[in-house]
Amino acid sequence: MRVVVVGAGLGGLTLAHGLRRAGVDVVVYERDGALGRQQGVSLHIDDRGASALRACLPPAHAAMVEATMGGPREQTLTLSDRDGELTVTGTRSSDGMAGRARPGRQVHRPLLRAVLLTELDDVVRFGAEFTRFEQRADGTVRVWFADGRTDTADVLVGADGVGSAVRRQYLPDVRVVDVGRRMIMGATPLRAVAGTGLPGLIGDSPASAHVRGTMMALGVLRFTQPPVAARRQWLSALHRSAVAEIEDYVMWAVPTTQERLGSAAVWRLAKELTMDLPSALRLVVAEAWPDVTVPLRVGVIPPMPAWPASPVTVIGDAIHLAPGFGGNLAMQDARHLCEALVEAYRGRFDLLDAIGAYEDTMRRNSFTPAAAKANT
Ligand SMILES: Cc1cc2nc3c(=O)[nH]c(=O)nc-3n(C[C@H](O)[C@H](O)[C@H](O)COP(=O)(O)OP(=O)(O)OC[C@H]3O[C@@H](n4cnc5c(N)ncnc54)[C@H](O)[C@@H]3O)c2cc1C
Repeated sequence: MRVVVVGAGLGGLTLAHGLRRAGVDVVVYERDGALGRQQGVSLHIDDRGASALRACLPPAHAAMVEATMGGPREQTLTLSDRDGELTVTGTRSSDGMAGRARPGRQVHRPLLRAVLLTELDDVVRFGAEFTRFEQRADGTVRVWFADGRTDTADVLVGADGVGSAVRRQYLPDVRVVDVGRRMIMGATPLRAVAGTGLPGLIGDSPASAHVRGTMMALGVLRFTQPPVAARRQWLSALHRSAVAEIEDYVMWAVPTTQERLGSAAVWRLAKELTMDLPSALRLVVAEAWPDVTVPLRVGVIPPMPAWPASPVTVIGDAIHLAPGFGGNLAMQDARHLCEALVEAYRGRFDLLDAIGAYEDTMRRNSFTPAAAKANT
């Protein structure tokens, strides 16, 4: 069985590891170069993402990710200004109910991606932009790339994110709906705000400060094991540059609007939006790394009714969006699709039945109530 995966993101790379470990011939085509693009600094990984990584990755890779995660995040704190002092005024448990996060831990996103790419040199082809596919009479799929390359596979997986070109051709009725929400996200070295008392106040928990009508979300990533030592212990094949110069940091987000984003440099706007907040929070923004301060647009994909299974399928943001936990769903999809394809590879399941079973599970798990509302 030959599987072509389009997109070397969280889902595509998790899937590639799982398939390769089971002996399946898999190749990943990625539009970007090896360095990729900035896509946020940290990710909250919950039980779904963590168990997918454990199931699909070689044990040393999974151990490297686990060792470098931040501490457990089991509740979200509410912070307010009491008599001029930033204070915890409430806690909400992270139980996954009613849109709340599930318990989890933070990972440094560029480090996770570097771990996912480790020992996949013979699997991932960079600079290969997928353009179209054709399903052939013999059941295989022919795939074309912008530079004229082609490939032929038994299964084509669109793991190419929110703008998925595979989905556009395969499921043209799927719409991506911009819900109009905008955020600015950034990160700040922990040492720069160590004297404010803020890191001690929030510990490892995500926090949401509400002061004089302004909201700011915050979280601290303190690497449980320093990445340099973890690389030495768990995954020496990981490129040295992936762990060099990484330090503990605060990640933060503030809401804004499209109009305001259009008119100002992102970091300067973040400083304007937070100027009425207490000094500790203003310092977080003022001391941020400017090059990782980025705007974020929030969208949803309204759930599609079921479609007949074929040798073409999709995972992750290509088919559903979940602000704040889309990466967990992408990795969970990768795990479920991997398990289904391996069953077919070992002759225990018909290939199309296996893909259909994966798609049923994916629709059940990942088509969120929030996305369904966008259909009404
Ligand atoms: C700032 C920010 C913070 C986030 N925080 C969290 C969080 O805390 N927890 C969480 O679970 N999720 C979080 N998310 C969401 C998460 O990043 C996504 O849901 C996740 O990356 C989706 O994974 P994916 O593999 O489906 O797609 P992606 O990771 O987007 O990967 C898609 C890949 O396909 C490639 N590609 C695209 N088109 C083509 C083409 N035509 N040909 C070849 N390759 C192509 C892209 O270059 C990319 O490498 C966050 C997102 C952002 C932006």
